[in-house]
Amino acid sequence: MDFKSFDLTPEIESGVEDMGYTEPTEIQVQAIPHIMQGRDVTGLAQTGTGKTAAFVLPILRRLKRSGKPVRVLVIAPTRELAEQIHEAFQGLGRHTGLKSVAVYGGVDRKAQIRRVREGADIVVACPGRLLDLMEQSIIKLARVEVLVIDEADRMFDMGFLPDVRRIIKRVPPQRQTLLFSATMPDDVRALAGEILNDPVNIRVGAPVPVSTVSHAIYTVEDHLKTPLLIKLLKSEEMESVLVFTRTKIRATHLASRMKRAGFPVALLQGDLSQNRREEALNGFRNGKYRILVATEIAARGIDVLGISHVINYDMPDNVDAYTHRIGRTGRALRTGIALSFVTRDERAFVWDIEKALGKEMERRILEDFNYGAPPPSARAKPLRQERRGNRGKSLANFPG
Ligand code: AMP
Repeated sequence: MDFKSFDLTPEIESGVEDMGYTEPTEIQVQAIPHIMQGRDVTGLAQTGTGKTAAFVLPILRRLKRSGKPVRVLVIAPTRELAEQIHEAFQGLGRHTGLKSVAVYGGVDRKAQIRRVREGADIVVACPGRLLDLMEQSIIKLARVEVLVIDEADRMFDMGFLPDVRRIIKRVPPQRQTLLFSATMPDDVRALAGEILNDPVNIRVGAPVPVSTVSHAIYTVEDHLKTPLLIKLLKSEEMESVLVFTRTKIRATHLASRMKRAGFPVALLQGDLSQNRREEALNGFRNGKYRILVATEIAARGIDVLGISHVINYDMPDNVDAYTHRIGRTGRALRTGIALSFVTRDERAFVWDIEKALGKEMERRILEDFNYGAPPPSARAKPLRQERRGNRGKSLANFPG
């Protein structure tokens, strides 16, 4: 199957060609015909499946040419995701003359307002800044024909559902509504029931970590995670590596230790200014930085093709979060490798993930790595021998 069978316009087909897509992905095959018919759709799809183009293409087809704004509203939970959807509209719609604008907080309002005032057919927005601009009547939603809610489950996780409901109240009820989510928690299901009209429900792949990724774990004590990471990066071929930590502080510490060790590393965490986030992300995309250390929320929705390895420096505490992190590698039709560093306290998460995967993850041991090295504080203490002995015993029951 190719994109010609969708009855897109020649302008949109040129955009598809510019993006280098030759074959539609599964969700595109399933969703595009229904969306083109004007049906409401719920899409249960993992990241990396091509779901953005699955709604962008039929929306461009529907709009055809520029009209009175705003005709399409897309709501997304994070700035990075909003920016990526906006870029998909720009890239795929390059030859259509349709205009898209991204609206989110943390950046200069004036420039955004100017772009909105220049007339955007499509607004891709995070809830907070959108409400802000709606309250000032800078963005009016009375002409919206298509409403898209992307990553609805994450919107719920981040506490945005009340804002989303307030926004939807201002969108005309006569509209096409599309809702995408990687998982379907009860609150998201309830929202879908309220705002969608006789939807077609599409589900792509089982909700398990993406199958194009191979999964392996290293069992290691917390204080040895950084030396293990450094040794791994030195000994294995890793093109482009995304490293996840549990907290902003751990991300910041790890990034500076990696930098001191001489690695080209960037940091992405929620406390950074928008400019610094963009610098990190762009540098990672264009190869200036081989390694990006990030927290999960900050990395949500980032789209970097060619990430060869995702490393869970800290394990995520549930299967969904693992799926989302791992969705950063093996995107679309590529393959990737996911490595997880697991301490004693994190073992239970491994079992949960293995249950979802339906198989055991490979246990790896890095050769010539001293898994028994004491923590820095213990080195200074006279009880060193004794401590080391205990550690050896307690490690014996590690998974693997
Ligand atoms: P998404 O799941 O929408 O975040 O898309 C993941 C990645 O796949 C993005 O980099 C898209 O540009 C890319 N992509 C989407 N559709 C296709 C396709 N049909 N062929 C190849 N790559 C695609």
